[in-house]
Amino acid sequence: MNLIDDLRAMLGADGVLDADEVAGRQAGIWRADRLMARALARPRSTAEVAAVLRYCHAHRQPVVTHGGLTGLVHGADTTADQLILSLERMRTIERVDPVQRVAHAQAGATLQAVQEAAEAHGLSFPLDLGGRGSATIGGNASTNAGGNRVIRYGMTRDMVLGLEAVLADGTVVSSLNALIKNNAGYDLKQLFIGTEGTLGIITRLVLRLREKPTTTNMAFAAFDSFDRIPAFLKHMDRRLGGTLSAFEVMWRSFYLLVTTPPAKGKPPVGQNHPYYVLVESQGSDRELDTRRFNAAMETALEEGLIADAAIAQSDADCHDFWSLRDDVGQIMVQGTPAIFDISLPIAEMERYTRDLDAAMTAAIGAHHLYIFGHLGDGNLHLAVPTPPADHAALRPKIEEAVYRGLAAFRGSVSAEHGIGLEKKPWLSISRSPEEIALMRTIKAALDPQGLLNPGKVF
Ligand code: ZN
Repeated sequence: MNLIDDLRAMLGADGVLDADEVAGRQAGIWRADRLMARALARPRSTAEVAAVLRYCHAHRQPVVTHGGLTGLVHGADTTADQLILSLERMRTIERVDPVQRVAHAQAGATLQAVQEAAEAHGLSFPLDLGGRGSATIGGNASTNAGGNRVIRYGMTRDMVLGLEAVLADGTVVSSLNALIKNNAGYDLKQLFIGTEGTLGIITRLVLRLREKPTTTNMAFAAFDSFDRIPAFLKHMDRRLGGTLSAFEVMWRSFYLLVTTPPAKGKPPVGQNHPYYVLVESQGSDRELDTRRFNAAMETALEEGLIADAAIAQSDADCHDFWSLRDDVGQIMVQGTPAIFDISLPIAEMERYTRDLDAAMTAAIGAHHLYIFGHLGDGNLHLAVPTPPADHAALRPKIEEAVYRGLAAFRGSVSAEHGIGLEKKPWLSISRSPEEIALMRTIKAALDPQGLLNPGKVF
């Protein structure tokens, strides 16, 4: 077997990069290190993906699928003996059907391209996250990406109606359902959504689109006690008639970080409260939506649910509010961060984070713990910057503190980033031995040689 020559015979000369060319590429858009692999294949179609996998299956060649390389858990890492299958030449958005409200796309299309294609028809593909310009829709599906509007539209899983995938032996399973309701047997697409490329390679998708909201109302609210936050969430959700579209929390340490120089952000409300929430509603009638949103905020203030609030008066204000939430880069200024995306019941959050702070002090001494995230989904992001030289030594201690505390109530070690390599040692905190055994059974049935994304997840 001569891998490069054989693949070039299938994909053309420019369809394959050799090991040296692979080493010229960055390992990820947030990463400084280089890619490594035996070769990188760039198929243009499902048929070419199938040909590559049939060949790899016959020669027991391990394969790791690459999308936009925006992942955060080393889910697409490779070793020198593996083949990278990149979907970078499968970026076509094949069709938008405004009546059925679906889009058909190849898996290598970027999230942003899908969003823009939907918007051209007055529709919206509501998945949204920071890596939108690089992240691919196939990668979003294979990791079941979350993001800022899960509270209204769900995870990627809830936006995929059908898909086409190639199995480890090269079999193409075309399950391009475009119906919202279809209970005809097993929902096979779920085998490939959120399974991080370990069961098959997604090549095409049918995506559910929504009517595009045309108005946005936002506020930044401050809280003096944590128990007011879930009460405020329920209050707003009840009052907003289904238009609540984001509910993002910031602990004071994060709020101070992003509203104090060198950060460019200005504080919309005073900096002395322990908790802050950014709340957003999206609708379709500016006057009506604004009246309803402002009335809901007013009663929240009257009822003592919030200590203080600033209501966005313009699109520029909305943009500024989101910029504060998105200014996660300030954490990098402090050092090399350990970043986490955990899920837990809202009622456990205050106690958990207080215990975590204490556990971290015991484990690593003085530290900064930044907490923010999608509180409406029960999902918090934690970030602990460390001196770069000490990061490798401190990281396991920080992980231990973060994950051990979740075990008591089976919180999730990954709300939305996935397991990859990074969280593999901690999977058993969130999944029972029986669940992990069933995952292994499914893996063995679909990929008996263990060729697809080897070593990831479990
Ligand atoms: Zn997030």
